[in-house]
Amino acid sequence: MKRKYVYFFGAGKAEGKGSQRELLGGKGAGLAEMTNIGLPVPAGFTITVEACEYANAHEMKWPAGMEAEVRRQVARLEKVTGKKLGDAKDPLLVSVRSGAARSMPGMMETILNLGLSDASVRGLAERTGNPRFAWDAYRRLLQMYATVVMGLNKDVLEDKLHALKQRLGLEYDMDVPAEAWEELCGDFKEFYRAQTNEEFPQNPWIQLRGAINAVFRSWNAPKAVTYRRVEKITDIKGTGVNVQQMVFGNMGDDSGTGVCFTRDPSTGENVYYGDMLINAQGEDVVAGIRTPMRLDDLQESMPDMYDQLLAVRAMLEINYGEMQDLEFTFERGKLYILQCRSGKRTPHAAFRIAVEQATMPLIGRSDARRLVKEKYLPKKYEAAASRPVIMKDQAIARIAGADIERLFYPIISSDVSRDELASRRIAEGINAVPGAACGKVAFSADEAEEMAGRGEPVILVRKDTSPEDVGGMQAAKGILTQTGGKTSHAAVVARGWGKCCIVGCSALDIDYERGEMTVNGQTIRRGDALTLDGSSGTVYIGELELVRPEPPAEFDTLMGWVDKRRRLRVRTNADTPVDSRKAVEMGAEGIGLCRTEHMFFATRERQLAIQEMIVAESAERRKAALDRLLPYQRDDFIGIFEAMDGRPVTVRLLDPPLHEFVPKTREQAEELSEVTGVPADAILTRAEQLHEANPMLGHRGCRLCITYPEILEMQVRAVIEAAVEVKRRGRKVHPEIMIPLTIAARELEILVDRTRAVADAIIKQAGVKLPYLVGTMVETPRAALTAGAVAEVAEFFSFGTNDLTQMTMGLSRDDAGRFLPEYYDADKAAIFPDDPFQSLDQDGVGKLVASAIADGREARPKLKIGICGEHGGEPKSVKFCHRVNMDYVSCSPYRVPIARLAAAQAAIEEDTPRRPVRSARKSTRKAVRRTVKKAAKKRTASKSPKRATRKTKKTKKTKKAKKAKKTKKARKARR
Ligand code: PEP
Ligand code: MG
Repeated sequence: MKRKYVYFFGAGKAEGKGSQRELLGGKGAGLAEMTNIGLPVPAGFTITVEACEYANAHEMKWPAGMEAEVRRQVARLEKVTGKKLGDAKDPLLVSVRSGAARSMPGMMETILNLGLSDASVRGLAERTGNPRFAWDAYRRLLQMYATVVMGLNKDVLEDKLHALKQRLGLEYDMDVPAEAWEELCGDFKEFYRAQTNEEFPQNPWIQLRGAINAVFRSWNAPKAVTYRRVEKITDIKGTGVNVQQMVFGNMGDDSGTGVCFTRDPSTGENVYYGDMLINAQGEDVVAGIRTPMRLDDLQESMPDMYDQLLAVRAMLEINYGEMQDLEFTFERGKLYILQCRSGKRTPHAAFRIAVEQATMPLIGRSDARRLVKEKYLPKKYEAAASRPVIMKDQAIARIAGADIERLFYPIISSDVSRDELASRRIAEGINAVPGAACGKVAFSADEAEEMAGRGEPVILVRKDTSPEDVGGMQAAKGILTQTGGKTSHAAVVARGWGKCCIVGCSALDIDYERGEMTVNGQTIRRGDALTLDGSSGTVYIGELELVRPEPPAEFDTLMGWVDKRRRLRVRTNADTPVDSRKAVEMGAEGIGLCRTEHMFFATRERQLAIQEMIVAESAERRKAALDRLLPYQRDDFIGIFEAMDGRPVTVRLLDPPLHEFVPKTREQAEELSEVTGVPADAILTRAEQLHEANPMLGHRGCRLCITYPEILEMQVRAVIEAAVEVKRRGRKVHPEIMIPLTIAARELEILVDRTRAVADAIIKQAGVKLPYLVGTMVETPRAALTAGAVAEVAEFFSFGTNDLTQMTMGLSRDDAGRFLPEYYDADKAAIFPDDPFQSLDQDGVGKLVASAIADGREARPKLKIGICGEHGGEPKSVKFCHRVNMDYVSCSPYRVPIARLAAAQAAIEEDTPRRPVRSARKSTRKAVRRTVKKAAKKRTASKSPKRATRKTKKTKKTKKAKKAKKTKKARKARR
């Protein structure tokens, strides 16, 4: 079949669909979808991403058949609009805009008012009775065509415009009279001729071809390439091109244009949030030249226009089930929607929006009724408009791990006194993105990147930002601009990253050349320190102490839903009582890895004791040194067990090679010599003896305990004695002793026997009941390959995927960073999709994990299985762990909520039918509920049929009450 490159939309119908993002780009798919759901969208057509990819690969030659298709669709557009492209009397004007499958705000090009010429501009003036508007439209086309299509200098044209306004003594474009615009058009055409040796094309077909090619080309413009690199956009190869009938917001006081969000993107509040300029075109809003009118004010002054927008807001959220960011224009009182997309939001807003969309109606019933009566809202939307627009599962699925990370953004510490704040406050701006940041001032994006490259925290200060600045904006901790509003480039981009940003700080007087600025009488130079409070919009001089903030109430609500939804348990990797408590606050359900060697580094005393143990030449001396370590370890374990309050705690026996602990310098050897009486020379000789060429594959892990059983004995004694003590204090305790780096079942068997002998003797003597588990880490390929035999001896497996990745891939986890980026950088070799030390290599290491689980469970059906490598807190890997039926993942305390979320998302993905559920319309909601129920039933039945049938209402209630109590407690603790 012949490939189709051009898709029409208009008059209530579109050839494309909202699901065709990859083919039509985000904007094209959006226009098709909006047309299909009945929104007032100006007609037009979309040229596919494939066509862009082809043209860029063939020196701007269009694919066969595309030209004929474009001509056909233009004819169709002319029919729908009743106007003709190039008509001298009543010309059809179109915009030509880019639109990739992933949002790249401001990165590619747009040409407006295409179709105007020396003749048709007069026709337009006559037809509209507004020559000022017609000549202004023509000068805009000349300006954009010259710069975007022909690549002429933007600043020269801007200067000409500026000079004209100065000469006339005018501040705003809207005040420039028709004759002056006409004069400027002549000037622009002359400049065009001088620069290109050609006349500005009067033929609209030449204009259209040039504009389409310019948009195709803009895919490879440096700013777009940088943006894709920074945002890691690697899976799309071009942009769609949207050619659409122009509508005008500058046709009088009943016209206007604006940008808005269906909810507040900073706080998530359920308010219509945005700005509008009366009698203006879109770029006037973005340029921030005039102060826009807030939508609240529009409601007061022009309720009719506001109600049209309100109806659109309801239709959008009902259909997309998401907060939308939209551009609109009123032309003589009639609303047109130019584009909509999922709105970027702060992490706080992400939680509030998700929770409120799932639990509260968008607008009240009476509003919905009024809008239907006014015929702005189709009747079929009336009921849905006053109900929640999504389900809880959709709310969970929408939150990203990064949203959680960003929730814990720094704020200025409350320890900084009011007086200090007052004395350091130098200016106020618009609080575009919350959170605080401090760093040294850089005045250009390059400078910011350079300073950040040296490891310095940077505050990027600009008059305004443009897409060229994204590299520096990314490198900076915070962004401060002199101009712009909440929808300016700086604000939109920074919000997407959750990066602290203040805009519109008019007190700044920046001198780029001198590398300094004056702010209310103070001079701040490049490299001076500033602190920004993006929540209040305040700028402080100097570096203030920052702390991590409280998450919003909706975080707890959503995490409550997450915990109900997930099957996978989430533990933490923690080695101190402080970390353990933090992890419990973050929702950890146990410790999956306590690295005991970390305890040996805690104080100089402990370091000396372990060093003494290592340099000991006899078992007796080694034992004596270990006896000195025992109380330290026991006390640590008591602290951890108490902090974990009955949750399981997996303690790993000593893992790293011994030489990591020995003195390296003569000075250190002499210090140790004083404590042990062993001569310094002998200590250094012993250190040399312990040296290994390849220590990570050497005398470490459980091999230490094979050769030095007294290490195992001391550690097991410390764990069990601590557990007994905690038990005696009336607390619950569940120790799990974990043996690292196993390579053979027999090796493990020897160590398990020794462990049990020590533990059982202590428990017997104490006369307490203390169940404990002994298991192993699966960190070597051999352990994984012989998992069946290993499981005969181990009561649990914990996949140590750091070492397992290292050993399976044959890549050093400590050194591979030097070249590994080439392996996962999409612009380089791109051999793997991600860094395999951060996101589990599911095709390789993952296979080993899956087969070890199958073999292990076959040998021991109740084998408990978890993961404690870095991957345990990485969302994609957590989802993998769910799919291979692990019991838990374990990760660092701050990643615990991320893992909880990913675990719930994995359960939802498993239960959700392939096609994504977009809206919460009744029938769809019912269908999803049915599927979810079915899957849950199947799971419960297959896991524990008896428990499932025995579960009474009462036990469910008690569980619920207990959980609520727990959540309340955790929240309290966080406070
Ligand atoms: C592992 O190897 O995955 C692991 C958790 O152990 P460590 O990182 O301490 O070697
Ligand atoms: Mg390891």
